[in-house]
Amino acid sequence: MAKHREMSRRGFVGGVVSSLGAVGLAPAEVWTRRLRLSGEAHAPGPEDEYDALAKLANNENPYGPSDAVVKAITRAMKYANRYGYPDSGLADEVAKHHGVKTEQILFAAGSGEILNACCTTFLRDGRLLVGADPSYNILYSRATGLKSDIVRVPLLPDFRQDIPALIRATRRHYRDVGLVYLCNPNNPTGRLVTKDEVRTLLDGIPEDLPVLIDEAYHHFVDDPSYATSVPYVVEGRQVIVARTFSKISGLAGVRLGYALAPRNLVLRMRPWSTGSISALARYAGVAALRDTASQAWVKKVTLELRAKTIAELGSLGYATIPSDANFFMVHVKRPVEPLGDEFRKQGVLVGRPFPPLNEHLRVSIGTADEMSRFMTAFKAVMASKPA
Ligand code: PLP
Repeated sequence: MAKHREMSRRGFVGGVVSSLGAVGLAPAEVWTRRLRLSGEAHAPGPEDEYDALAKLANNENPYGPSDAVVKAITRAMKYANRYGYPDSGLADEVAKHHGVKTEQILFAAGSGEILNACCTTFLRDGRLLVGADPSYNILYSRATGLKSDIVRVPLLPDFRQDIPALIRATRRHYRDVGLVYLCNPNNPTGRLVTKDEVRTLLDGIPEDLPVLIDEAYHHFVDDPSYATSVPYVVEGRQVIVARTFSKISGLAGVRLGYALAPRNLVLRMRPWSTGSISALARYAGVAALRDTASQAWVKKVTLELRAKTIAELGSLGYATIPSDANFFMVHVKRPVEPLGDEFRKQGVLVGRPFPPLNEHLRVSIGTADEMSRFMTAFKAVMASKPA
């Protein structure tokens, strides 16, 4: 099976690229060589500087969409000039994948749009947002923009989310709470919430309160204590599960995500989402969901490179937070704030500061080449005196 997957992934990156040893190459280089070998000249352009950077700042998938997805996008290009085009079958595919009804799905241009729609729907009348701190900040910025107050529940000393404290905070403010947010695994720490903890949370708060469970990094989890929260949607709990094609499927630039929620919540959220997804994304999504071999390959190489990098950092005396995602945090024993520029000078982009974890640097897992560039940059930056 592993062999089959490996073979599929060879197909995925294309014959040209596999013969070049794709895993070691930076993706921009992969695509540039693809173009060259297909006879197209690479004209230098303003994007070259960006392409040359090791991009470990945004938890992206460095390998990009699989061959099957590229083919689907290429086929869909003929509809790029249309508003009306044949249904790609995306809703049916997602419904089948999760065992939900199509009326329980809300599509968006990335799951960020789903998070926005949740804020507008459930917080716009000045209701409170309850969530861990730090967590995925876009939601908190949006809530602040809506002039909604946020009850921020600090993480536990081991950086896990404090479920009993989330329950207490929600119950204490019950009348005013509009939305509870659980990012699982959490960004920026990478730590997961176990399936038992999710149940404890849902059982510990009033049943009618909407809970947004953000599973952007679901596909990278290997821990059997974790489970998706989709069954709660099927059960009819007031749970919204957010999923994205940006991470495991490498489609961040194509913008596609969705919410799974009971019909009553979908109907409330729909007016606050644009529902505007490109033809390319609609076709790409179907191919991406079906291409489980590529997903397995991305997970495998990502987890291997995560373990390798964490071990290397450990041997240099730097502790990391255990991660279940395609990124991790390393304790750099000095303020992270000035480090971004220092890494950039070395051609590496790393995560911004995530207060109050001011001495933890978030690093996304790139290709083997990018991770070795990160380690070289890390040694150089850490050898310099703290600013
Ligand atoms: N949720 C989490 C936890 C994320 O980290 C991200 C992006 O990094 C998103 C949602 C939004 O992803 P997208 O809008 O690309 O689907």
